[in-house]
Amino acid sequence: MSTADPRIVIIGAGPTGLGAGYRLQELGYDDWVILEANDYVGGLATSFTDDAGFTYDIGGHVMFSHYPYYDQLVEKLMGGDFTELNREAWVWMEDRFIAYPFQNNIRSLEPQTVFECVTGLIEAQRTEHNPANFKEWVDAVFGKGIAEHFMIPYNFKVWATPAELMNWVWIGERVAVVDVQAILRNVILGEDQRSWGPNNTFKYPLRGGTGFLYEGLRTFVESHLELETPVASVDPEAKVVRTKDGRTWPYDVLLSTMPLNRLIGCAEHVPDAVGGATDGLHWSGSHIAGVGVDRQADTTKNWIYFPEPDVPFYRITYLSNYSPYMTPEPDQTLFLTETSRSAHKPEDAETIVQRVVDGLVQTRLMEEDDRERIVTTWLCSPDMTYPVPSVTRDAALGTIQPWLRSKDIWSRGRFGAWLYEIGNMDHSTMQGVEFVNQVLAGEPETVWVPRGEGAAGEGVR
Ligand SMILES: Cc1cc2nc3c(=O)[nH]c(=O)nc-3n(C[C@H](O)[C@H](O)[C@H](O)COP(=O)(O)OP(=O)(O)OC[C@H]3O[C@@H](n4cnc5c(N)ncnc54)[C@H](O)[C@@H]3O)c2cc1C
Repeated sequence: MSTADPRIVIIGAGPTGLGAGYRLQELGYDDWVILEANDYVGGLATSFTDDAGFTYDIGGHVMFSHYPYYDQLVEKLMGGDFTELNREAWVWMEDRFIAYPFQNNIRSLEPQTVFECVTGLIEAQRTEHNPANFKEWVDAVFGKGIAEHFMIPYNFKVWATPAELMNWVWIGERVAVVDVQAILRNVILGEDQRSWGPNNTFKYPLRGGTGFLYEGLRTFVESHLELETPVASVDPEAKVVRTKDGRTWPYDVLLSTMPLNRLIGCAEHVPDAVGGATDGLHWSGSHIAGVGVDRQADTTKNWIYFPEPDVPFYRITYLSNYSPYMTPEPDQTLFLTETSRSAHKPEDAETIVQRVVDGLVQTRLMEEDDRERIVTTWLCSPDMTYPVPSVTRDAALGTIQPWLRSKDIWSRGRFGAWLYEIGNMDHSTMQGVEFVNQVLAGEPETVWVPRGEGAAGEGVR
């Protein structure tokens, strides 16, 4: 890129594209446009309110924050209109609740399960390992007992992908790993451990769900925003984007936040090696089903994990505990459920809502007669929700991303970068901000780092 004042085109008005747009207007730069396929902003972080007045996110969205710039932005967008919640996470298995993290609270499970978990853990401590995939990593770190009772079945439900096909470089802070002493203290001394990790409290917008943040960002980019303008093709030689409506958008620099495989699929002049590398990118989709019930939630739980295969969802969020404005009336309950799907794990869309309701009753989150108190149900089934950290991912990225960069294309964001470990809202927004800082001020990116062969900084942040 040689132009001093480059024409910037941004594909997508999710958190990444909006983060870039926000930064551009903050710097007073004017030569840019955001092209968005939907008639709304926010991408996967948007929220919907149904006709009955219940508000849903696309899966439970908890605000983790790693960056002062993002913190300040969120503060500016929310003002004083937020709730502050304790992270109250639980696991439902063997017909009972166990506080999360599972491994530190196993004493209340069946004695045989506790025995298998503890002996597996001790065995794992004694053995040297060099895991080649996520399955081997789980066995090595947690031992066979915890692996078989929780980690492997739970992760299959989340990723809809066998653990053997996944790498483990994404773990970082995403998975609570083992503290052998804490586990033994729990079992032998009967002490529970309820909290973990860096984020024990989190903020949530008072009204409008997670999407409130992105509706707020929209006001800063409105005059550069083209909604209902899906990109149909990209010509990296001519440096032109074509949209489905037939218009063309020349660029000097392109920020794409659409899924990387789809970007390559619609790009012209793609070398065979780059086109072929997309075979190494794997993903899963979801059925996000909401159920609104006309009775008070009788718990302070925020979300619950479900490792067992007898119910479809892997997680339920009590959205009505996040803010009183998620439901139209104060004394109502809103369950938000997440069920993953893929070729490895097909999930019938026709029956999912009914199966979710049955699952809520089966796990006793709803009483049988609560079925009559259901006032609304909602279903959203995006076909891409989790960029799977597959064993083939980093080699694919190592082939695709350098080629794009040589054409002045930055592919960033949850599915643009295809890096789950930096795929949350704060990471995504900051990838957009850092794209601008790099293009306009030459500042190096820090959130996104290259992956794949010969890449510096491979691994997790
Ligand atoms: C189930 C689930 C749970 C999550 N939980 C959390 C959480 O707890 N905490 C957290 O911080 N984050 C969470 N996230 C992640 C969060 O949603 C993402 O970080 C964020 O949405 C990524 O933003 P993005 O802009 O990179 O991508 P997206 O949100 O996917 O936005 C991309 C945009 O590009 C547009 N687009 C795609 N193709 C085209 C095209 N051809 N032409 C024009 N526009 C196009 C799309 O319409 C979309 O608006 C979760 C996500 C999911 C799915």
